[in-house]
Amino acid sequence: MVNQLLQKLSKKINNKNKTFKQWPGLIQAYEKWLPINKNTPIITLQEGATPLIELESINKLIGKNVKVYAKYDGLNPTGSFKDRGMTMAISKAKENNCEAVICASTGNTSASAAAYAKRGNMRCYVLIPDGYVAQGKLAQALVYGAEILAIKGNFDKALKIVQEIAKNYPVTLVNSVNPYRLQGQKTAAFEIIDSLNEAPDWLCIPMGNAGNISAYWMGFNEYYKAGISKKLPKMMGFQAKGSAPLVLNKTIENPETIATAIRIGNPVNREKAIEVNKNSNGKFISVTDEEIINAYKLLGSKEGIFCEPASAASVAGLIKLKEYVVENSKIVCVLTGNGLKDPDCAIKNNDSIFKSGIDPSIEIVAKNMGF
Ligand SMILES: *Cc1c(COP(=O)(O)O)cnc(C)c1O
Repeated sequence: MVNQLLQKLSKKINNKNKTFKQWPGLIQAYEKWLPINKNTPIITLQEGATPLIELESINKLIGKNVKVYAKYDGLNPTGSFKDRGMTMAISKAKENNCEAVICASTGNTSASAAAYAKRGNMRCYVLIPDGYVAQGKLAQALVYGAEILAIKGNFDKALKIVQEIAKNYPVTLVNSVNPYRLQGQKTAAFEIIDSLNEAPDWLCIPMGNAGNISAYWMGFNEYYKAGISKKLPKMMGFQAKGSAPLVLNKTIENPETIATAIRIGNPVNREKAIEVNKNSNGKFISVTDEEIINAYKLLGSKEGIFCEPASAASVAGLIKLKEYVVENSKIVCVLTGNGLKDPDCAIKNNDSIFKSGIDPSIEIVAKNMGF
């Protein structure tokens, strides 16, 4: 599968009368689909071209001869799909001579913004909800040299503040209200079609601010209008039960979930998401933290894929909608972020055997192995 994808991508790159010895990053790969010009400095970590992996155990679980794939976007340079949007947002900020960027973040946006901003020689300010950012994400923002302000309040409060700051001070906002973010993120839909030769029947995706679901829908539509795909997928958006403003159609004052990346009570792309749901004939539902963790463990222990809890919501949601799946359909679940981002969650939620304090003797080790 991965080889097939790479072959196709290199064909695509060569098609443009340019040859690259390696994947150049999504801006160069998809340049004619993106709002860039010859003056845009391309700031890239060669993001994109992530694998589309068939999930045998989920195929079996759903039955009906379906094929389920994971779009493993946790394999981007900073470990989440946010890199797709950030390469565009930071390149455009650089083109506009901006010297500093700012974002509010549940973690992944800050890691990505910091990496790309530093590569573009800019300052990066991040506002995070104090105590609610996974360890791996915080570690990344620190190492990439972000200026981190942890506020007493949740993501929604942080976003309000950065929106005001960006209006009044010389800093560019790189949250998903920045239109270039969605432009970059839509390339994931292109990659899926380039790889399957057609759009899937369903796209299953977690929703926080709902920027990503809106970006995918834009990408699917652009390829559809260009005749590259003959159909459009139904967009299946999933939220955590304690943090489901789009499912309940209201703002949640105190969102709670183990999936901190989607712990958002007032999504900025609410209107766009409602349109996506309607126009794609999709469904938005919520999944419990328990269902999220079950999918998370299943992906790890049956498929060898380690994603973060928010990402597992896409598989948890699919399992919950099992009865609606149509015979022979193709389904893509977006795994938005890498499991290494949240080691605490991994250590607390697994069914593996861990024995400690074992004497270093062959006999005793063998006995502990069950021999
Ligand atoms: C940001 C993020 C999401 C949510 O994406 P939105 O565009 O805000 O809906 C989901 N999963 C992970 C891992 C994320 O980092």
